[in-house]
Amino acid sequence: MIPPVDVYVGLGSNLDDPEAQVAQALVALGELPLTRRLGASSLYVSRPLGPQDQPDFVNAVAHLATRLSPLALLDQLQALEQRHRRVRQRHWGPRTLDLDLLLFGKQVIATPRLRVPHPEMSARAFVMAPLAELAPALSLPDGRGVSALAETLASPDLIRVLPERPR
Ligand code: ATP
Ligand code: CA
Ligand code: CA
Repeated sequence: MIPPVDVYVGLGSNLDDPEAQVAQALVALGELPLTRRLGASSLYVSRPLGPQDQPDFVNAVAHLATRLSPLALLDQLQALEQRHRRVRQRHWGPRTLDLDLLLFGKQVIATPRLRVPHPEMSARAFVMAPLAELAPALSLPDGRGVSALAETLASPDLIRVLPERPR
């Protein structure tokens, strides 16, 4: 049996009760096959990336342990997005649920369908702040520490909202 790998997933939503979308997705991540949820960050409110004529986002990061392969996990994340009725319209447009695979152990993956670490993560406060809250001692595969990176991105526009509600 393959040993479980520590994985971090970024969640985002800005449509149809984003807080509920993210809270439900945090539960669903723990129910994926061969996967356990080890932790979840608080929920954060952030201004949208790209087009500004859309609602604010709710973001969070989940810590999982999985025996799925990286691509099998991506399949599961995309299936979960579909169950939240995500419709892809324009790039960086509004969505009911976005699930990004941020980190898969210390693996570096560079394929057309999957790039890990997520290429933009270290530049995004709405990813690094919840990640640093959840795993302050964690480093990226290139050795940079998540807490130090999050501090450089600290932004007044990023509002920490709620501790996770037990459901
Ligand atoms: P961004 O990736 O900049 O956050 P986005 O989340 O809006 O943008 P999507 O439309 O959700 O982008 O995804 C586009 C494609 O990105 C997906 O079809 C998927 O195959 C690919 N992809 C590559 N690396 C990853 C990753 N680490 N996590 C999720 N999807 C990824
Ligand atoms: Ca994304
Ligand atoms: Ca995505």
